[in-house]
This record gives sequence, C-alpha cells and structure tokens, in this order.
Amino acid sequence: MRVSIKLKFSLFLALLLILALSVLSYFVLRGVERNQQGQTEIYLAQHVTTVNLRVKQTYYTGVRLTPQAFMQQRGRALAADLAGYTGLEVTLYDSQGQQVGTSAQGEPGPGRPDVSAALDYALNNKVAYQSEGDKLFYLAPLQGPEEQMGVVQLQYSLQGARSFQQTLLNLFLTTGGAVLVLSFIIGYLYFNRAAAAIGRLKKSAEDIRRADYISAPPVKRKDELGELAEGIYFMSREIEDSIAAKDEERRKLQLAVEKLQALEQQQKQYIGNISHEFKTPLTSIKAYVDLLNMYDDDPELLHDAKLSIAKETDRLYEMVEKVLQLTALEKYDFESQAELLEVESMLRDICGRMKGKAERYGLTVSLDVKPAHIWIDKESFMHIFINLLDNAIKYNVPQGSIHLRNEVRDGRVWITVRDSGIGIPEESRDKIFEPFYTVNRDRSRASGGTGLGLSLVRNLVEKQNGTIVLLESSGGGAAFELSFPLVTAKQFPL
Ligand code: ADP
Repeated sequence: MRVSIKLKFSLFLALLLILALSVLSYFVLRGVERNQQGQTEIYLAQHVTTVNLRVKQTYYTGVRLTPQAFMQQRGRALAADLAGYTGLEVTLYDSQGQQVGTSAQGEPGPGRPDVSAALDYALNNKVAYQSEGDKLFYLAPLQGPEEQMGVVQLQYSLQGARSFQQTLLNLFLTTGGAVLVLSFIIGYLYFNRAAAAIGRLKKSAEDIRRADYISAPPVKRKDELGELAEGIYFMSREIEDSIAAKDEERRKLQLAVEKLQALEQQQKQYIGNISHEFKTPLTSIKAYVDLLNMYDDDPELLHDAKLSIAKETDRLYEMVEKVLQLTALEKYDFESQAELLEVESMLRDICGRMKGKAERYGLTVSLDVKPAHIWIDKESFMHIFINLLDNAIKYNVPQGSIHLRNEVRDGRVWITVRDSGIGIPEESRDKIFEPFYTVNRDRSRASGGTGLGLSLVRNLVEKQNGTIVLLESSGGGAAFELSFPLVTAKQFPL
C-alpha cells in the first residue's frame, strides 16, 4: 500500500507530540501531587503540634490523673474539642491503642477503615499515615508528661487535591488534544507544500526522461529541495546540451556522408564525361587515319584530314590541359603565389590581349574600370578573365559587344563581365559551372569549347577567396559578377 510522504510526516509529528505531551503532563502532575502531599504533611504536622499543646494544657489544668485515666475519661470530650479547634475529624487512642474518643459520626464498625497497621506504628512514637479512597488518616503520637500517652488521628479529605489534579489532567488532555489536532493540521499543510515541491521535482525528472527538457528550476526554495531543484535543472541543461551536440555531430556526419556520396557520384560522372569527351575527337582522328590508309592519294581528303586532325588534336590538347589543371586544383592545396594586384591595369592588359580575337568576330570591347587593389595569384586572375572573355567572344552574336566594369563595395572589389551574346537559358543557370556541361554541344564544339572552362574558373575564384555568380540578364546576353576582398592602402605590405 502506498502511503503518501505528507501523511507519514504528519503522523510522525503527531506521535512525537503525543509523546512530548504525555511525558510533560506525567511529570507536571507528579510534581503537583508531590507538592500537595508535602503541603498536606506540613499542614497536618502543624495541627498535631497544636493538638499536643492543647492536650497537654487540658491535662495539666484539670484534676491530676494518670495519662491512661486521663485519656479514658476525657478522650471523648477532647476529641470533639480538638475537631472544633482544627476543623478536622479527630480520633484519639490511649497508649494501649484503644479508641478513647472521636468526632466521627456513628460508632466504629465494619464500615470504618481499618487503620490498625498505622496505629501500631504511631504507638511506637512515630508518625504514620494511610489513605483510603479520598481520605487521608494521619496518626501521630500524643506526648504525655513522661512518655507517649496515646495517638491522635486526624482525618484529612484529599478531595480538593484530587479534584485539582483531575482538573489539571483534564486541562492537559483538552489542550493537548487541541494542540495535537491543530499541529497535525498545520503539519499536514506544511508537509503538503513540501510534498507538492517533491511532486514537481518528480514530474521534472519524468519530463527529462521523455526528452522534454526544463527551462527553469521546477521549485524555488531556499533549502535542500531548492538545491535539488537547481541540480535537476542544471542536469537537464547538461543532458540537453550534450544531446544537442550529439545531434549536431550526427547531422554533420550525415552531411559529410551525403557530400562524399555526391562527390563519388560526381567523380563517376566526371570520369564518364572525360572518356566520352576524349573519345569524340579520337574517333574523328581515327576515321581520317582509316580513310587516308585507304585513299592516301586523294589530295582533297588529305587537305580535309589535315585540318580536322589539327583541330581535334588542338581540342584534345586543350582538354587534357584543363583536366590536369582542374585535377591539380581539386587534389592538391593550391600553391598560391599571391601578390598585390592592381585590378584596373590587369583588366586593361587582359582586354588588350583578347581584343584581336574579339575584333576578328566583329565585336567591340568596352571598359569602365577604376583602380583598386586585391591580393591574388596573378596567373589565376589572368586565367579567370581570359576564360570569361573567351566565352563572351565564343557565345556572342555578330557585331555584338563585351563590357567590363568594376566597383568597390562592402570591402570587396566587384567585377562584371557582360556580353550581348546568345545568353544562357534559365534551365542551364545552375549547371554551367559543372565540368563538361555545355548548353549547346555542337556550338561549343564548333568554337573549340570543352565544357571545362567555367568549372575551372569557379575553382580558381574560390581558391582566391572570391565569389562568382551568373547575373540575371534582362536584355539578352550573359553577365558574370565576381568579387574579391579589397586591399586598402593601409593594408599594403611595406
Ligand atoms: P565551353 O568550353 O563549352 O565554353 P565553359 O565551361 O566555359 O565550357 O562553359 C560552359 C557552357 O556555358 C558553355 O558550353 C556555354 O553553353 C555556356 N556559356 C558559358 N559562357 C557563356 C556566355 N558568355 N554566353 C552564353 N553561354 C555561355
């Protein structure tokens, strides 16, 4: 059977109180009783002294008699006199233990208490008392002229003392009972509060077990329960943090696995693409070689074969070079020969180099560039912009244009390469940086493209802490925006 802690504590408190009250009332009542007994003894002893004086006085003032005769003759009257004098019931005995007078109503008989044992004691010149019901019989020697001449018995009512004790006991019982009930209720209410706090702690522990972590201590108290609540709160936070850390680790691991899987997939695709891309020019070369083997004296075939083989080997050469570059970039940490570069002069220089090719296609190249410095590998910078300008030429339209501009913004140098060419369709925007991706394979191939240029460009840009995006172009053509960290005059190396 489950008994709640508050009931247990309350009952325990009640038991303690009962024990304390019982012990207290026992000792108080015993003390009172002893005190009353002492008082009574003193009171009766004083009366005995008075009685002795009175008896002696009577003995010496009357006719001279022997103590025995005196007691026999005057006992009755003396007892009545003494009773009136002391206000107590008085009985007198002679030295033989014979009752000689009493102020008690009625004759001695079976209804009267037997005090013979006490009487024997008192006849030996000692004080004795005996209690019967609520009466106390006090027996003391009566001194004669020479020796003890009898015994006086004073009857004292204990009723007053007893009723006082009863009242005291009743008082103890009623106040004790009331205190007990009251303290049980107060204790129950108090323990109820503690039990409620324990209940909240228990609920928090269950919440934590269900991974429902707590955001504050469940109980705010300045005692052990409060400390326990704080402990549970900190424990909850620790568990939450470590589980969050584990989840984060698992998430990262999952991401890494996914990335690895994607990389593996990319790798496979890349190898497949390389094989395919290499096969095409090789097939073309082989076909011409086969034809030449058969018709080696056909001058027209010889002319076509020379042109085609030269073109395909150029493409193959270009492809091998770019694949090698890409592989080197991806595999090894790029050996950066970074230096402080002035963007305006570099862009003007690169445009100058590409100008001839652009003009051959009837294209105009314009520049709107301002001086700015970046920290970059010069070779990579050249490579990036030669590739972009090459594409802007290859995928342009007759009489088209190419525009290059730069600006400094947010601590970076932003460079835009914009052309008025055929543009890049929406569905290809996400893919053009992938290796071997071409929008139009035939057009790309016709212009000697490999599908590796932009992939290489993005790799180079990222290695130089740069960014490259294909801008949304509204009026046709394509526009690439690149950015590199700006180097301010303050940062120039000495
Ligand atoms: P490619 O050697 O074929 O030019 P790139 O990686 O340089 O390979 O470019 C990938 C593809 O993106 C190209 O085949 C082409 O379809 C498209 N592309 C790149 N630059 C431009 C541009 N300036 N205008 C239009 N299309 C472009």
